[in-house]
Amino acid sequence: MSQLDNFKQWLLSHRVINMSGTMTALGAARVPNEISELVRASLPLFLDISELQHHASKVIAAATGAEAGCVTASAAAGICVGVAACMTGSDRGAAEQLPDTRKLDKTRVIIQRGHVVNYGGSILQNVALTGARTVEIGTAIHSEGYQLHHALDGEAAAGLYVVSHHTVQSSQISLPEFIEGCHAANVPVIVDAASEYDLKTFIALGADLVLYSGHKFLGGATAGIIAGEADLVKACLIHQTSGLGRPMKVGKEGIVSVIAALLRWQELDHKALHQAEYRRSRLLLQRINEIEGLFAEESPDPTGNPITRIRVTVDPGYSAAPIARVADLLAQTSPAVIVRGHHVDLGFFELDPCNCSDEEATQALEQLVDVAKALKDVTPGEDELGLGPRFSSYDEAGLPVVDPTQVPWMFKRHKTVQDKPYAWPKEK
Ligand SMILES: *Cc1c(COP(=O)(O)O)cnc(C)c1O
Repeated sequence: MSQLDNFKQWLLSHRVINMSGTMTALGAARVPNEISELVRASLPLFLDISELQHHASKVIAAATGAEAGCVTASAAAGICVGVAACMTGSDRGAAEQLPDTRKLDKTRVIIQRGHVVNYGGSILQNVALTGARTVEIGTAIHSEGYQLHHALDGEAAAGLYVVSHHTVQSSQISLPEFIEGCHAANVPVIVDAASEYDLKTFIALGADLVLYSGHKFLGGATAGIIAGEADLVKACLIHQTSGLGRPMKVGKEGIVSVIAALLRWQELDHKALHQAEYRRSRLLLQRINEIEGLFAEESPDPTGNPITRIRVTVDPGYSAAPIARVADLLAQTSPAVIVRGHHVDLGFFELDPCNCSDEEATQALEQLVDVAKALKDVTPGEDELGLGPRFSSYDEAGLPVVDPTQVPWMFKRHKTVQDKPYAWPKEK
């Protein structure tokens, strides 16, 4: 067998069942034929890349309602390119100097502390790569308009607003208020909407640049999309092609994939697709509630994406068994089942129906039934005297004692897929 055949065999036998949604660490999207056929057609060709970007701009504009658009290597690259564009505009000399910002007046990016996220990489680092400095306003869980107002001085180059399940979801400045404040100070707003379905709302609300991933819900190959105001997009293109975007360059396959994904998106029967996903969710819900020790309920997406996920908790009687253990055991089954585990320290994980087939969901359920059997080894908690659910008990002297296996501040962090060391394939 040739080495190529060997690798192909390895590739096809190392798939995982993705119950966690659009995860970069799991390969992001299952690219459909309509997109991969066009990408494949482009691969043997020489093409004028700027002409291709021009075409992409028109398609992005039509899909988002923005004046123009450009394709980047990823949404994370879009943050670098977008921030750089807000600092230099179309000044090529200034663009070429970044990350040296000494000759620039506007070099600060304002962000709410609750929006300082990590999507596999830190948003602060992506901004810092450009030479800009971030100014964080508010506290981790609370920001207000007066703090934004105070931060918007003559050095502010951009306001950065993140719409994502990763952010703190309460007590943040709303997007309309954020845009109104920034625009009153003549500061453009960049919205990181990498993982959002809605391609129009953020532009319609007045955002100057909006970033999307081409490989999340759009289903394309790895790429990013910037949509926005024409002059800023022009500046983005300068950075993308010849400035600091060069080492994170997007090739013809990425640009073609974005065009194909956006055109397909307009023609897709979204309701039929989401109905099929919801049927999958309901199946998961019903079957999990038949498993002793587990409890399942529906959970809407926090940012408004059209997904109903299934939230899984351990029955109170089994409360000594952290849900993280179930998630870990599932990841060890074969094929590995990867759940949405960001919140296991709060006692639940979620199952996302959008990136698995019906067959994969059924297979995952079978593996979950096996894993749940291990829960029975755990002694159910003592039946307290009608005090209700709590993460505490009483010591011999009758004093309250916290249960260190239950409280999030004692919880050993659940390892996500990203944390796994790369496993070199074994020699056959
Ligand atoms: C996924 C994600 C990113 C990164 O997107 P890539 O296209 O994979 O670089 C950035 N921001 C948010 C909010 C995300 O969810």
